[in-house]
Amino acid sequence: MVRLNFLSDICDHDKDFTSIIVVAVLTFGIVGYLVFSRHRKGENRTSGHDKDIGRRVPNDQVQSIYDSKDSPGDGPCTSSDCTASCEEMASKIPLSVNYHFTRQCNYQCGFCFHTAKTSAVLPLAEAKRGLRMLKESGMEKVNFSGGEPFIVQRGSYVGELVIFCKRDLALPSVSIVSNGSLITEKWFQKYGEYLDILAISCDSFHPQVNKEIGRYQGNKNHLQSLQTVRDLCNMYKVAFKINTVVNTCNKDEDMADNILHLAPCRWKVFQCLLIGGENAGENALKHAETYVVSDTEFQAFLDRHKHVQCLVPESNEKMRNSYLILDEYMRFLDCTRGSKDPSKSILDVGVSYALMFSGFDEAMFFKRGGKYVWSKADMKLDW
Ligand code: SF4
Repeated sequence: MVRLNFLSDICDHDKDFTSIIVVAVLTFGIVGYLVFSRHRKGENRTSGHDKDIGRRVPNDQVQSIYDSKDSPGDGPCTSSDCTASCEEMASKIPLSVNYHFTRQCNYQCGFCFHTAKTSAVLPLAEAKRGLRMLKESGMEKVNFSGGEPFIVQRGSYVGELVIFCKRDLALPSVSIVSNGSLITEKWFQKYGEYLDILAISCDSFHPQVNKEIGRYQGNKNHLQSLQTVRDLCNMYKVAFKINTVVNTCNKDEDMADNILHLAPCRWKVFQCLLIGGENAGENALKHAETYVVSDTEFQAFLDRHKHVQCLVPESNEKMRNSYLILDEYMRFLDCTRGSKDPSKSILDVGVSYALMFSGFDEAMFFKRGGKYVWSKADMKLDW
């Protein structure tokens, strides 16, 4: 036997039985090694993105990564113009991110478009990990939103995120959107100095209209909360902003005097927006169709308030895709198809990869003035 002779030469003895065992072990070892290395090569080809968690994916790798992974729910992309759009999307920088870390809220606005579909909130350490990844990808502004951000751990959760983003990540702008009803002075004492902007939602200065909309909780006075928060912002040097959604209940209201009295640094005026699965259609928790106003009605509201200089209008067209929205699992939500379709979580696949499924319209972001003076250090405010 060739093998036995060969072994005999090497080992310098002729015990056939021992030789057979040694040959068998060697043969299995070599074959096993070859099979294992082929398997590893294949594995690396399809899961390379896992190693990119927290890092930007170079453009030349985008298409191969995209090809190798399933898009959320759709299977691999076959679109002929996919290469361009994927590369373009992955090269975008998440300059300004809205992190809706909770869907829970103590109000029940009829047109709410981020409804309480889950009660999930990430552990603080995970949320911070994701925020650090976003900062490393170019984020300059983060806005914490909900649901109601102050409902989680009585505001200490959002407070810790605010401190982390301002002090540890040194983000130029950290802001919160809230309904204002759960904010206390104690919160401002502990966290106020780290917060740039606090936006409070207010759609009407008539208590009855707020009730009709659902912007209330029990006997809490929403307008009183608004005034209190405005005073606290002044006292603790936080820029104060107001958000208003124009809908069928308030479309004819003149809010100018009250807004001028409160003197926010910005008054964002939105047109009531329908989002499938949130406030419209099947599986939605809210049905906002009756709150929707036409473009003409929205424009009439804007015309009535055109002398209010801090007014920043936002039509449905401007609003729909020009925000980078992260949900409670840190998944980007793509609104381009009229509903909020989630990407995979940035915590699992990295920012660049998840961005490809965000539907983010960067051009519209700049067109609507998404990049503005957003750090309180740069604002010339009269505290
Ligand atoms: S306050 Fe905001 S999150 Fe809460 S129900 Fe109203 S719109 Fe929704």
